[in-house]
Amino acid sequence: MANGGPVEHGYPHLETVRAAVTALYRRLSYDTVRAFSVSVAPADVAFCDTDDLYLGAQRVARELVRHYRLPDARLIVGFREMTHAANVELTAGPEYFVELNDRFRTHRRDIGAALAHEVAHVYLHRLDLSFPGTRENEILTDTTATYLGAGWLLLDAFREDGASSQKLGYLTPEEFGYVLAKRSLVFGEDPSVWFTSAQAYTAYTKGLAAARGDLERPPLLSAGWVGRRRYARDRRHAQDHRPVAEPAGPYDFGSAEDGSLRVSFACPTCHQRIRVEVRGRVRVRCGLCRTVLECDT
Ligand SMILES: [Zn+2]
Ligand SMILES: [Zn+2]
Repeated sequence: MANGGPVEHGYPHLETVRAAVTALYRRLSYDTVRAFSVSVAPADVAFCDTDDLYLGAQRVARELVRHYRLPDARLIVGFREMTHAANVELTAGPEYFVELNDRFRTHRRDIGAALAHEVAHVYLHRLDLSFPGTRENEILTDTTATYLGAGWLLLDAFREDGASSQKLGYLTPEEFGYVLAKRSLVFGEDPSVWFTSAQAYTAYTKGLAAARGDLERPPLLSAGWVGRRRYARDRRHAQDHRPVAEPAGPYDFGSAEDGSLRVSFACPTCHQRIRVEVRGRVRVRCGLCRTVLECDT
C-alpha cells in the first residue's frame, strides 16, 4: 500500500474500478457477494492509542480475517520503518506476515484501514484473482475491500487539514466513495454514519451522486430527458445504418444475425455488458448480478 504524496481527486481510475466490480461478481458469483451484506462494524476494529500495540493489531487482523471468511488464515502483524504504508507477503499460508509502517505505532486508529487493504490482498490471492500490472491490481484490491464491506475504513482514513493530509490506498477519495455507494445501493446500507473524517464524508456524498448517475443512463427507463433524446437520435441513425455521431456513449447499437437491431450497455450494478433487442419497453435481468433493469430501448 502506498504512502504520502499529494492527494489525487476525481475519477482517474473509474474504468479499472468498474472492471474490478465485474471481475468480483464473475469470480465470486452473486451468492457469495450477497454473503457480504454486512460491513465491518466500527466497534469491531476500534483501536485507541492506549490499547496494546501488538495485541490490538492482532485483534483487528483477526476481525478482518473473519469478515473476509478466511477461517484458517492467520495474520502475523509487525511494524518497521518503510516507505510504503503496509505490505503483506503472499505465500501459500495459512500464516501471512503483514508489515505496517512504524508510523502506525502512533496512529493506531488507522491500523484497521491498513489491514482492510492487506487482508483483501490475501483474499484475492486465495481466490487467484488478479489484474495484470501492479497499479491495476492495487485498484482491484481497494475495490474488493470496499465492495465487500471493509474498505470504508480506508476512506475514513482520508483526512485533510490546513497543514497536512493523509490518505491510504490507491483509489481517490471520490472513487472510494463511488464504490462504497454502489455497495450501499445494492445492500441498502448507510455508511455515512460511520465516518469520523469530514473529508471522507464529503467524498462519499460525491461518490454517491456518481453511483446514482450510473442508474440514469439510457436505455434505462430512469434516464434523464437529455440522455433519452440523444439515445433516440442515435437509435434512428443505427436503424438507418448510419454511423452514430459519438459512439463512445454508454451504449452501442449492433445487428443480430437475423438483422434485428440490438443495443448493448453496461449493467449499472456490476458493469457487465448487457445486450438486448431494440423493441421499446423491456425488463431485463442482469445474468451476473441479477439486477432487474427497466429499459426503454
Ligand atoms: Zn496493496
Ligand atoms: Zn449486473
